Parts: sequence; C-alpha cells; structure tokens
Amino acid sequence: MSYIFKENLVSSSKYSIKCPYPMKPRYVVCHNTANDASATNEVSYMIRNNNSVSYHLAVDDTCVIQGIPLNRNAWHAGDGSSGPGNRYGIAVEICYSKSGGSKYTAAEENAVYVMARLLYQYDLGIDALKQHADFSAKNCPHRIRDEGRWNSVKTRVETVLQAIKEGRCDPKLSSGTTVILPPYSPGDESPSLPGLKFTVKVICNELNIRKEASFTSQVVGTVKKGEVYTIVEVSNGLGRLKSGVGWISMGTDYVEKVTVDSSSTSTDSFSSFTVKVICNELNIRKEASFTSQVVGTVKKGDVYTIVEVSNGLGRLKSGAGWISMGTDYVEKVTTTSSSSSSGYQVKIVNCSVLNVRSGAGTSYPVVTTVKANEVYTIVDESNGFGKLKSGAGWISLSYTKKI
Ligand SMILES: [Zn+2]
Repeated sequence: MSYIFKENLVSSSKYSIKCPYPMKPRYVVCHNTANDASATNEVSYMIRNNNSVSYHLAVDDTCVIQGIPLNRNAWHAGDGSSGPGNRYGIAVEICYSKSGGSKYTAAEENAVYVMARLLYQYDLGIDALKQHADFSAKNCPHRIRDEGRWNSVKTRVETVLQAIKEGRCDPKLSSGTTVILPPYSPGDESPSLPGLKFTVKVICNELNIRKEASFTSQVVGTVKKGEVYTIVEVSNGLGRLKSGVGWISMGTDYVEKVTVDSSSTSTDSFSSFTVKVICNELNIRKEASFTSQVVGTVKKGDVYTIVEVSNGLGRLKSGAGWISMGTDYVEKVTTTSSSSSSGYQVKIVNCSVLNVRSGAGTSYPVVTTVKANEVYTIVDESNGFGKLKSGAGWISLSYTKKI
C-alpha cells in the first residue's frame, strides 16, 4: 500500500482562528474522525469553516492531506488554549472510523507510517505518541480504544520508527511509501550466484541506496564518499549491498572497485555451476571486466558451465572468456557440485545465527534459525541455498562448510 501526500493549507488570513500560535512539536496526537468522510473532504471542510477546531493532517485509505502548517498549533486536543495537546501536539486524524471496515483499516495503516515519520522528523521518541484522550476526557481515537488496540498501534508505529532509523524505510512524510525492508541478518547475505562478491569504495559525495535493482526504484538511504561496501549481486548496473539494505549504482563515476574477495573467487573453494543465457545475446569478454575486449557472443537458451566468478563475470569452462553473471542475462540451471541424492553434511560457519527460509531465496519468509557449528544434511540445492533434510526449510550455503 501507499498514500498520496497533498497540502491543502488553511489561508494565513485564518491563522487567528485555526492556528494562532507558532509551535515546536513535542507530541504526535492520534485521533479518529468519528465520521465517514474522506481526508480530502475532512480537510476542505476544516479550513473552510470558521470554528476554532483544527488539526494538522487527515489520513484515509489513499491520501494524506495536510491542512495546518506543522510549525503552528491546532485546536484538537480539548485541553484549552494553553494545554500541551493543543499547543505542542501535531494532530493526525484517521478517517472512516465511524463505520470501520477495510477503508478504515487501510487508513490506519497509512497513519502508522505518518505518525512514525512525524516522530522521526521532530526527533521524538515513541512516548511522544499520544491519544487525544491523554489530554482531555474524550474517547478518541474511539475505534482504536473501543477495540482495545492502542498498544498494538503504538507498537506498529515504533516498528516503523525503528525501520526509519535503520535506513529500512523512507523517512519523508511526502514519500507516500508504506513499506519497510526486513532487518539485516546474516542469512540474507546470499549471493544469487555463488562466488560473486567484491568490494567497492564510494567516490562521489553521496549515492542513493535503492530498494530494488532499478534506477527508478524507491530511495531507502544514501552512502557517502569514502565508505566501503561489499556487493553480492549485480543487476541492471546496480550492485546489491551485503547488508541487505538495498542497491547502489555500479557506475564508475560513483564507485571504484577496491579488492576482490579472494576467498570467494579462489578456484579451490569454488564449485562450478551451469547457467542458461536468458537475454538475446551476451558478450564474451577476454578478461573478468565489463570493459575488457569482446571476443565473441553467447545466445539465448545456450547453456554454459562457469568455473570461476570475478567482478560480476563468470569464466566459461571452455576457456573462451568471461560472460556477465547479471540476473537479467543468465539464470542458474543446476550445480555440478558433488551432491548426491542422499545429500551431504554441512557445518554452519561464518555467522552466529543463520535464517532457515521456506524457499530457496531471501524473498522467502524466515521459518526458524540455525546456529554456528551445528551440522545439517543438505538434500537439494537451488539458487545458492540448500534444502535441509529435516524438511524445515532452506539455508544459504554461503554460510556453510561441507564436512
Ligand atoms: Zn480526537
């Protein structure tokens, strides 16, 4: 889900009625409208009438509408002209609370992100999140209170606030996004193809981190000049950060390669695997570099064995050269490692806890975890993941050692 953010600010000629005092916010105050009108209609009514009733934001299932500047007070908390709610609280009205239902549920979810972003913007902790009822004797937010869900709403806001602080959620109120990325965990560090891992240094002042491998994907954070990152996958000219936070441009104006992680490219620890070409034509390059001389091409549907990976390119077993390992260009077919039908044993290494997922990839949910030095039998392999014989799920083989 997401929302569209719009301003429909009250005319400054009405400040004396709607928002007479400058304000440095100390609270975010949650309300339910007790009405079934949209955010657009609520705010246009509020700024049009001449009652000393006002609030900063109305949130519905699709929109967030701002009616009062956030640096001015509003009359919403029922605690008088000098009450802390009215003088220091940013009021967030959640629409459609009278009848409830799916539109209300969606409005409340949007409001959770709005309230978290406001707390973050004003450097406030979760305890600054208040109910209207904290300031005066009114049963508001009525639906949340009647359903006994205030603590749960507060927890949801806290989760989003934490995600914003960790760079896993867009902090901007106007962004309209209502997604948070999963927290970093060692099990998420699985390259899409074995062995692809290299380090880059940021050489421009600031570089966006994007949620997906696309230059138009949502910006979820930035990296700064001089910082060094490990890249575990390359796609569309972007590299996936090992931390799991997102993707950064691999453009040579922005990053420069530092070192190759020799442990992942040395031939003695590398098992060959097979890829199928999924783009129409793909260059074969002489060396493991995208700027190296083109010595031939491979075609869609062709299948090749890769015996080494470096810089995002894979060396063809034939010795003809190197091809891109980008997931837009090739897909892994099978591994040619010595796994037999009865499976093989691995020990968990290089991490303290490793996620077990319901499928072979980081997009699958985590079902449980395993711990360092534990030994498991792997009965199938896919996408760099191994299937546990127990049937519990799949683990990243990057954090295992065959025994
Ligand atoms: Zn209220």
